[in-house]
Amino acid sequence: MPSRNILVINCGSSSIKFALVNEGQSSFPLQGLAERLGSPEAVIHFESTAGKESVNVPDADHQAALAQILPRVEEAAGGHLDGIGHRVVHGGEKFFASTLLNEETLAGIEANIQLAPLHNPANLSGIHAAMNLFPRLPQVGVFDTAFHQTMPEHAYRYAVPDILYKEHGVRRYGFHGTSHRFVSKRAAEMAGVPVENSSWLVAHLGNGCSTCAVVNGESRDTSMGLTPLEGLVMGTRSGDIDPSLHNFLHNTLGWDLAKIDNMLNKESGLKGLSGLSNDMRTLTEARKQGHEGAMLAFEVFCYRLAKSLAGMACALDKLDGLVFTGGIGENSAVVRARTLDHLKLLGFKADDEANARCTRGVAGEIQAVGSPRVLVVPTNEERQIALDALALLDA
Ligand code: ADP
Repeated sequence: MPSRNILVINCGSSSIKFALVNEGQSSFPLQGLAERLGSPEAVIHFESTAGKESVNVPDADHQAALAQILPRVEEAAGGHLDGIGHRVVHGGEKFFASTLLNEETLAGIEANIQLAPLHNPANLSGIHAAMNLFPRLPQVGVFDTAFHQTMPEHAYRYAVPDILYKEHGVRRYGFHGTSHRFVSKRAAEMAGVPVENSSWLVAHLGNGCSTCAVVNGESRDTSMGLTPLEGLVMGTRSGDIDPSLHNFLHNTLGWDLAKIDNMLNKESGLKGLSGLSNDMRTLTEARKQGHEGAMLAFEVFCYRLAKSLAGMACALDKLDGLVFTGGIGENSAVVRARTLDHLKLLGFKADDEANARCTRGVAGEIQAVGSPRVLVVPTNEERQIALDALALLDA
């Protein structure tokens, strides 16, 4: 049987990230990004073995952009596309695994809109556009939250009045599930430990950041909550703060909820602390030059990450290793080393040479002799989404 092709789509409110995944090839035959959709500057960037190309598509919406993307995808797939996998942000309590998309499951995604008012409608518009263009192709939804549906109640409940959970779904859901699932499985393979008898701490550190405790292939706790704002310091998100900050800012500065929400999501985190940038590369350079804001942001980021990982250890009976992934986790030896310094009580220590070697896609173990295992594992959410789609096609 020839190796099959899945198109993976991740729709934002004005963007579509896409990748053609072939089950027999490690790199993507075609990938790209459509951005500024709905505006006169709408553009699609394509990248393949043949090179890079950008095509202007003024005022294109999701469907118009997909209509431009799909012929190229079909060509790159040798005329044979087997299915489409859609990243969906919020599956609420309804979706604990990836699912074939049909009328019933689409209604389930719609029912979760109030939990993700910005993300789920964008994901849905991509799904509808793809279904209109390819009505006979199987389409699969893969949820950021689904992997965390195995969390025990003591991990997912907030200590607020019960009715808020029972009637309004106020609980911790967690995100980045596709990445935590992919890298924890990969870590087990790399370490030669059976997934079904393994325990991992995972730090996914990209623009958004989260930790996860993964036991026997299941999430037992994670740092993000009802929304992706909870937990670690991120590029522009604050992570945990005292919930009374809202009241304080309202009373002292007269800020309304929208202004506070915007500040916590868009102006905080590394960007807010450093006063310089949300980008860890920029901060790493500035820190070397002695930029005080960059030094502070770096220190708070690493300390809070270590604190979260130590807390996640409560969900484990044993530890097979700590996994770093995401743009920062895969590339920043200094973040990894500083974070491990804070975890010395748990015995963690980096081997400087091995730590420096694991960057730009190089995977491996970076612990010093005597330390619990520490792995750098590049994430690949697109491949995991394609694998889920293929598994559902096989079923
Ligand atoms: P996203 O969550 O948008 O997928 P990524 O996983 O690509 O983001 O991670 C982006 C982050 O990774 C940025 O903060 C970027 O600065 C950081 N990063 C990428 N390369 C390096 C590097 N060599 N050193 C430090 N940080 C890096």
